[in-house]
Amino acid sequence: MSASATRFDAYPRARLFDGPTPIQRLHRIEAALEPLLKGARLFVKRDDLGGLGGGGSKLRKLEFLLGEALAQRAELLVGTGPRQSNSARLAAAAAARLGLRCELGLWPLEGQAADADARENGNLLLDRLFDARVTDLPDAAAGPAFIAETRERAAAQGQRSYLLPPGASSAAGALGYADCALEIADQEHALGLRFDRIVLANGSGATQAGLVAGFALLGRPGAVQGFSVLADAATAQAGCLALARECHALLRGQGEIAPDDVRVSDGQRGPGYGVVTDMSIEALRFLAAREGLLLDPVYSAKAFAGLLALLRNGDHARQENLLFLMTGGTPALFGYQKVLNAADCA
Ligand SMILES: *Cc1c(COP(=O)(O)O)cnc(C)c1O
Repeated sequence: MSASATRFDAYPRARLFDGPTPIQRLHRIEAALEPLLKGARLFVKRDDLGGLGGGGSKLRKLEFLLGEALAQRAELLVGTGPRQSNSARLAAAAAARLGLRCELGLWPLEGQAADADARENGNLLLDRLFDARVTDLPDAAAGPAFIAETRERAAAQGQRSYLLPPGASSAAGALGYADCALEIADQEHALGLRFDRIVLANGSGATQAGLVAGFALLGRPGAVQGFSVLADAATAQAGCLALARECHALLRGQGEIAPDDVRVSDGQRGPGYGVVTDMSIEALRFLAAREGLLLDPVYSAKAFAGLLALLRNGDHARQENLLFLMTGGTPALFGYQKVLNAADCA
């Protein structure tokens, strides 16, 4: 394992994350699903816990991106995204931790512009507490002009800026999840078991891509199952494969990652990014009420709904060990008060 770990040393890293994150078994969910399980065991990896900013999977990606930013002597982080962006919130927290300035250009998702919670609560409240400067953008199309103006203004003041990729997603960011795959392998060793499948949400795809690249180093790239919350399956799969291959190349991995190694379903996406589905709300409530654990409405609730559907349909092997990656994003719950309360009454 240490031989693999040294592959990461070539890349600068800002320590933001207190790993390894725990792996826990979902005994009460297992009991509730019992007749369907065929001896399968369900575990979660708690990447919703983390070193700062409320935690979440973006921190693993940001470790490598902010490593780059510090290596370039940047003093300002610039990022764009939807208003309830977890990536923007954790970039703001990381900037606070590292003593950098942070400027965010954020836009409302369609249908959320008039919702006071979606606009100002949840991640937005936290962005401001972390002292990021938030600029309201009308929509995603306004992003590039915001980025150009913000970076020019900084340059005029003699400040170097670092542009965060959307969702903190790039091959360098994916390194954080390649490293997480090695962390999981260490934990498997300690637990005396092997996970047959690792299930997670796929948004921009870098989290899954990193896991695939990391498991490729271990000779099992096909162990990861993503549920897209953003693109259709073909688009998400192609984007994720490209990122996984780039990340694999950064790690000087052997051989090539095959298209079949990147498994993405869009069966839980529903009408689109940020729009909850009945299945995702049911999954969110189920895990909260049965285990006291929080999913987020945009990403992990849809992926957990995918895991539940897989088990209910019997699309799993006898005695399968399944690991669900909890990716955080729970501050967004407070941006979805109306939707979640409405579902309560239904
Ligand atoms: C960003 C995010 C994901 C997905 O990560 P990608 O690398 O964009 O696919 C999953 N869950 C949460 C909570 C996120 O914020």
